Amino acid sequence: MPETNPTSKSGGSSSRHDVVVVGASLAGCATAIGLGRAGVSVALVEKSPDPSSFKRICSHFIQAGSVPAIERLGLLDPIMAAGGVRTAMRAWTPWGWIEPPADRAGYAVNLRRERLDPLIREMATETPGVELMLGRTARSLVRDGETVEGVVVRDVDGEETTLHARLVVGADGRDSQIAEMAGVATKTLPHGRFAYGAYFEGPAPAPEGRTALWMLDPQWAAAFPTDDGLTFYGVMPTKDRLPEFKRDPEAALLNFIADIPDTPPIRESRRVNEVTGKIEMPNKVRVQVAPGLALAGDAAFTVDPLFGVGCGWALQSAEWLSESVAPALRGEEPLQQGLERYRRRHTSELRGHAYTINDYATGRRMSPPERALFAAAARDDRVAVGFDAFGTRRAKPGRTLAKLMPQALAVNARHALARRRAGGRPPVGAPQSAQ
Ligand SMILES: Cc1cc2nc3c(=O)[nH]c(=O)nc-3n(C[C@H](O)[C@H](O)[C@H](O)COP(=O)(O)OP(=O)(O)OC[C@H]3O[C@@H](n4cnc5c(N)ncnc54)[C@H](O)[C@@H]3O)c2cc1C
Repeated sequence: MPETNPTSKSGGSSSRHDVVVVGASLAGCATAIGLGRAGVSVALVEKSPDPSSFKRICSHFIQAGSVPAIERLGLLDPIMAAGGVRTAMRAWTPWGWIEPPADRAGYAVNLRRERLDPLIREMATETPGVELMLGRTARSLVRDGETVEGVVVRDVDGEETTLHARLVVGADGRDSQIAEMAGVATKTLPHGRFAYGAYFEGPAPAPEGRTALWMLDPQWAAAFPTDDGLTFYGVMPTKDRLPEFKRDPEAALLNFIADIPDTPPIRESRRVNEVTGKIEMPNKVRVQVAPGLALAGDAAFTVDPLFGVGCGWALQSAEWLSESVAPALRGEEPLQQGLERYRRRHTSELRGHAYTINDYATGRRMSPPERALFAAAARDDRVAVGFDAFGTRRAKPGRTLAKLMPQALAVNARHALARRRAGGRPPVGAPQSAQ
């Protein structure tokens, strides 16, 4: 049970929990739920005073690779009951569509953040041992030497409270103040694109239910089916296209989507919210732990949203963190052992993916091996299935790509041979744009 103390040495009140989690969005709520279920007392601190607050700039396409973690959290059924959509991907490339067969594709889950965030926050509030503290902003850390031992939070009236804990979790997003206050080593990597998008109601892009991506190399667009029959149209152009979006975001979004191959029915649809965007999105890779401190979700790794992994990684990292540190918080081992276990797992699961994602985030064009892989996946179902397992983050890059590349090269060699035999004309059944 948390202990409270009306006056501390600093004059404000203080309390003691096993853990203080800063940020009650996806990573923070999932961490609090996991730890609460493990019998640990948690103060879950959120700067917004509104229990229904949600992240406004996010297309919330949660990759198939993260869905098992959502199921284990017990969140998948509530998501589906709230109107969530299960959807497989298809990707347009200059060589045709990559479309793995429906029975071998990964299925993502989509629910607008305005529904998802309050849903998981309510689940956290109902978890025994979790105390949700809304309208509290973390202002500074309590330390004993190098070790973090708590957080000072300020409420909306300016009152400060010191929250003491054995572990502080920074789940406070891409610009993590907790990481900064703790002086955690951060690598910032450049991002060469910006993002704009909005929800539309109207006819669904064909085939209905599939999420469509356009890999326009280096430009990018997507259509995500989501709850209430809405489609989120999003684009991520390179920075040289920014002036037209700043001038008139809606016209620029409509023109961009209406110009892409196999145009989806955006002009026959009605926009239902404001066109929103994000211009600066540097990727950040931080060391995930320090004495008395752990980072989860975007606070640990913030990667390019182009590949739609941030929400899922927030939930997965929360699961790894709560599983790793629960034994220590129950007094079964030193905390540093649990933190080190989390760091190793986070690194092993996500570092390879983060590397490939960050590498393409500069706005550069595809490299020759990437072109070979995309072309082969558009031409051959077996490559498309392996490519989908990697792209939906159900398979790690290293071994998967090592297996896929030889298959891709063989497919492309057969394709080139067939073209030559056909006198340079594309073989029967090849897409018009195939080169
Ligand atoms: C344009 C764009 C599109 C995206 N699309 C997708 C997508 O399709 N799929 C996907 O998976 N991901 C997507 N993402 C990424 C996704 O939004 C994030 O990865 C995800 O929200 C991270 O969750 P989180 O819980 O770590 O952090 P956040 O959701 O950022 O939450 C941080 C929380 O901490 C709170 N907080 C911050 N500072 C303090 C403080 N000092 N004290 C108290 N509370 C504090 C905030 O109020 C907030 O509630 C997109 C991102 C962008 C920018």
